This record gives sequence, structure tokens and C-alpha cells, in this order.
Amino acid sequence: MTFLDRFGTDKACLEYLRGIRWRDGFRCPACGSSKGWPTARGTVYCRGCRRQTSPTAHTILHKSRTPIRKWFVAVWWMCTQKTGVSAKTLQRELPVGYKTAWLMLQKLRRAMVREARSPLSGTVEVDESYVGGEETGVGGRQLMGKALVAIAVELDGKKVGRIRLRHIPDASGKSLVGFIADSVEKGAKVHTDDWNGYNGVRGAGYLHRVTPILGDPQRALKYFPHVHLVASLLKRWLGATHQGSVRKRHLQVYLDEYAFRFNRRRSRHVGKIFHRVIEQMVVHGPKTYNEIVKAAEIN
Ligand SMILES: [Zn+2]
Repeated sequence: MTFLDRFGTDKACLEYLRGIRWRDGFRCPACGSSKGWPTARGTVYCRGCRRQTSPTAHTILHKSRTPIRKWFVAVWWMCTQKTGVSAKTLQRELPVGYKTAWLMLQKLRRAMVREARSPLSGTVEVDESYVGGEETGVGGRQLMGKALVAIAVELDGKKVGRIRLRHIPDASGKSLVGFIADSVEKGAKVHTDDWNGYNGVRGAGYLHRVTPILGDPQRALKYFPHVHLVASLLKRWLGATHQGSVRKRHLQVYLDEYAFRFNRRRSRHVGKIFHRVIEQMVVHGPKTYNEIVKAAEIN
């Protein structure tokens, strides 16, 4: 069955959500009763207080005026398009207003981060790279300026395995070792250059392999090919798909989106990825436009 056949109506989408939200049984958010029954509108009627609860209540879809069917299409595109989807494309295709499209994508990006994701392990290459500025200003406006991104790449034999990305305020030990500690399993082998921001890696519980690059970009490419590949793909994505329209204060959620898709690039189970994002959407609480727009600037 194709996606559109299955999720062509709001009701079908709500039923799918209902199954995820109350997969361990219904619990009424108003009175706590576990006795309820499904209605034809996709909600659940509570026998305790006689209220109806939508499976979108208190999720990121809470009180959204956009039909749920459009949300599902947006998630589907986010998961299946190799480069994701831009607000401009979503605006045109759904169709919805630009602000609505942008906000939907911001909310979805937040749903793409899994709190309990397992840390990188084995051998991990770590480096930091600037994105934005002239480089990613391919056509279009350039809103971001330069921003520093820490990149960790797990090696899968000689290939690139999973990645983690973090927008960091500077290349200090606090930023870099903090990123490693949050992203890489203790005891793993961490490979970096000899920048002094990495001096604390061993002390943080890792095997630390250091390769001096002596300020030579050719050496950097030669000894850290995997992080450089990821950095160039990331820059291309920010430039081509988003055409320099990313603001610095929102950069982290774009990095999360990129890592989410990148880490699943070899998966054949698109349906499972879709399910996972929808699941995250009903786990995450509602965020208002203002909360998202005023996300803290980190530098
Ligand atoms: Zn109730």
C-alpha cells in the first residue's frame, strides 16, 4: 500500500497516532481514568469524565490548525527525501503559508532527536569545522555568518558510520571535550589533531590518538578524511537545500535533522523511520511559535 493510500484522510492519521499514543492502554489526561473507547472521529471518549481526547493533545501537534494529513506528508518527505525538505518546497506542495511550513519543519526537527540514542563507539574521528559565511552562501540570502560545528564520525571499517554534530560557541576544551563526552562511549578510541582544545580527551576517559596536522590542510584531509567528507556534505546541504536561509540560533536543529537522516542512510525500512518520527512527535510536548523563534543564541 502506498503512503497516500494509507494516510489520505485525517481520520486514518489520527487512528495511527491513537495507536502510538495509547499503545499501553488509554489514560485520560483530564481524570486519569483508563476506561475509554475510540470514537469515529479518531479521538477517545473517556467513561470517567465523558471528555473526548485527541491523540494530538499535549503533543507537538497540539491545537495545530494545519490538517494532520499535511503533517504526515511533511514527515514522510523529511524521512524519504535524501536531502530532506525546505520550507519553500513544503509551502508550495502542501500547500500552506510559508510561516506555517517553516514552523512545521522546526517542530519536526525537534522530534528527530531521540533522547536515548546510543553513543558512538569503537574508533571515532573528531574535528571542528566552520559552516556558513561565504562558503554556503550559494545564491540567496546569507543569514548565518560563520558558525563552528563539532563533528564526530564513528568508523565502520574504512567507511563512515554514524555521526554526531554540535554547534559550539568556540574551540575550547570545554566545548570540544564536552561534546565528545556527550557523544562518544567511554573507553572508545578518539582520533583528533593536536589542537590544545583536545588536551583533556584522555582525562575524560578515552584512548586518545593524536595526529599533528601542522596547520597543513592537505595533512588534515589525508589523516581525517571521514570528518572532512561529512563537513563538506553538511556544507553542501546547508547551501543547496536551505540556500543560506538558516539562522545561527536555529543551526542546531538543522544539524540534528542532518544527522538523523545521515545515520539512517543505509536503512531500507523507511516505514520504520517514519514511525519513529511520528512516535517522537507524540512524546514531545507542544512548543509555541515564540518558544521556537526565540531559541537561545549560543554565540
Ligand atoms: Zn477522563
